Amino acid sequence: MIELEGVGKTYPGGVAALRDVSLTIGHGEFAAIVGPSGSGKSTLLHLIGTLDRPSTGVLRVDGHDVSALPDRKLAALRAHRIGFVFQQFHLHPGQSAVDNVADGLLYGGVPLRERRRLAAATLTRVGLGERLDHLPGELSGGERQRVAIARAVAGSPALLLADEPTGNLDSVSGEGVMALLTGLNDTGTTVVVITHDREIAARLPRSIALRDGEVV
Ligand code: ADP
Repeated sequence: MIELEGVGKTYPGGVAALRDVSLTIGHGEFAAIVGPSGSGKSTLLHLIGTLDRPSTGVLRVDGHDVSALPDRKLAALRAHRIGFVFQQFHLHPGQSAVDNVADGLLYGGVPLRERRRLAAATLTRVGLGERLDHLPGELSGGERQRVAIARAVAGSPALLLADEPTGNLDSVSGEGVMALLTGLNDTGTTVVVITHDREIAARLPRSIALRDGEVV
């Protein structure tokens, strides 16, 4: 699913956020990226998510060489194959749960009615079938993150990337979110999460530890 060979990322100004990273994440894996603040976790997740390109080395996502793909093809790969979940949820406050999730399907060329049907089905799958018309402000933090996960997976991506998905949640809600991600992984989705929670990382099948931009 993901292959990095000698990948480096240097930001303008000369900060080497990643240095010579080589790793492979197979289809169906569930991996944590761990490490102290500033170690390069977000940079690595951004590269894997094709939101940014490596400065050096080779990165393949789902068999595609990210450096060689033109922007348009990269955007298509991202829209069809990759789902994103963030610590801050990033939901539209003025839209219901179902419309937030339906928005996540905009790039698939699916008609609105079908998008809303798929959104409702996905919200039901994450346990929010009774909350379809609620606005984000009417939901708890854990429920909001479930909406964000539903939005990320409604299009059945092969790869789900989550940046501190439990970072803003109490421990019970965080457990629920991890259980949900585990369930998605059980059905075949490759899942990669950034976490600074050692307990969470310890329970996952694989941890990739970063320090000063290198895998340790
Ligand atoms: P982490 O997610 O582990 O906290 P990051 O990947 O965010 O680490 O950052 C790694 C390093 O790259 C840090 O030194 C950070 O300051 C730097 N960095 C991150 N993003 C940028 C950017 N857009 N421009 C310049 N430097 C950046």
